[in-house]
Amino acid sequence: MITTVLIIQSIETMPNIKIYNSISRKKEDFLPLDPQNVRMYVCGPTVYDRAHLGNARPVVVFDTLFRLLIEEYGEDSVTYVRNFTDIDDKINLRAKSLGIKISEITDQTIDWFMEDMGHLNSLVPSVMPRATQFVDKMIQMIEGLIKTKNAYFNEGHVLFRVRSYEHYGSLSGRSLDDMIAGARVEVAPFKEDPLDFVLWKPSTDDLPGWESPWGRGRPGWHIECSAMAKELLGGSFDIHCGGSDLKFPHHENEIAQSNCAHPNESFATYWMHNEMLKVNGKKMSKSLSNFYTVNDLLQCNISGEVIRFILLNTHYRKPLDWTENRVNDAKNILKKWRSQTLNVNPGVVDRRVIEALSDDLNTVAAISVLHKIFNQRDYSTLLASARFIGLLAETSINEEENEFDRKILDKVLVILSDKRLTALEEKNYEDVDIYKSRIIKTGIDVQISKDTIKLVPNSSFDRVALRGLVDE
Ligand code: AMP
Ligand code: ZN
Repeated sequence: MITTVLIIQSIETMPNIKIYNSISRKKEDFLPLDPQNVRMYVCGPTVYDRAHLGNARPVVVFDTLFRLLIEEYGEDSVTYVRNFTDIDDKINLRAKSLGIKISEITDQTIDWFMEDMGHLNSLVPSVMPRATQFVDKMIQMIEGLIKTKNAYFNEGHVLFRVRSYEHYGSLSGRSLDDMIAGARVEVAPFKEDPLDFVLWKPSTDDLPGWESPWGRGRPGWHIECSAMAKELLGGSFDIHCGGSDLKFPHHENEIAQSNCAHPNESFATYWMHNEMLKVNGKKMSKSLSNFYTVNDLLQCNISGEVIRFILLNTHYRKPLDWTENRVNDAKNILKKWRSQTLNVNPGVVDRRVIEALSDDLNTVAAISVLHKIFNQRDYSTLLASARFIGLLAETSINEEENEFDRKILDKVLVILSDKRLTALEEKNYEDVDIYKSRIIKTGIDVQISKDTIKLVPNSSFDRVALRGLVDE
């Protein structure tokens, strides 16, 4: 009798999710510190420009992890923090070159980011802190590190003493010698050791700055994530994620400073890193003309859903090559799936999809399950299962309708231009004015300049009324 009870309990508590932990370099059972309070932190973007396709990869990958954790532990038991880096010299330079305020750039970029990532159907994280909101916490942490001699003040700067942390390099697997060789290229005179990294630096009057025990200045990059994770998730939490380019130095530095500042805590238990995205086999670069922002693609009629599909159809730990073939394949598959699920109610998510994701987020296996379900013509299961990974969402069912609207808008534009030309020739504007006000009534702004006419739908856009404008 007792044995039976024990077996049942052990099955119930069996860990379901496995994660490849970058720090142990092994696939491990995921055991949260507290199943009622599962916590993940993702390093977010530095906000000075539109998010590029590479930035979208961690967003979509870890959004899928967030969905899986919610499924496993419940919506109220998962906290997902993704930050915005809004203190950075690239932002300062951009503001200077455009002659506008820093906050204008960061606010605008954050709005764009949320809009673009919304098109990829990524859920909004539980908390999205900005570095500028946590400078006091960063200062406190730096003060602690100075007290314990893990950091020192020199020539207006505070530096982390890398050699004071014996496990430095364990995440990226780099030896101190390799790191020194890399760091020696330009050693700042205020560093005791070429490996030491900046926690705080002085600001001149034209740069953003905060009062601190070391004068007016601003934090270095790495300290922000340590301070924000501590405040929002605690000194010990479950999963820390980001692109593999962040392993060194960013995550290595986060680990060193957090472990030294809070020696009785464990910081993150699991580290997950997505591999890099390339375009046509090459690193994305403006000089190679293969650099795309998410918005560029959305404007070119590549829907957010197609982008999401492609990002999920390569395992996150493998490099992803973005090609036109993949775009066309994704478009065809989604079109096929959508055409069969248009008037279908979602059924139950197929367990095999959840099992695939539970195996180190195997989104490729999950998508191949979707293909099987499609071939079995079980469209209600297909709809529910695809939605589980953020595809075939209700909101983007309008994709085809949008295309239809665009075609109608083009027709309306032609009619309006013709009427305007006639009006100019005949010096009689009555007809064109009537048509213009009918367009405006459908919730479209009509912007007429000397050479161009633009039709821009606004928030009161009424697509049924729009169709009435060409049905005559
Ligand atoms: P950043 O704004 O450069 O700090 O990047 C924001 C996030 O995007 C980080 O998690 C980066 O690791 C990730 N990232 C940047 N470039 C790429 C890329 N080409 N492929 C995949 N992830 C990337
Ligand atoms: Zn970070």
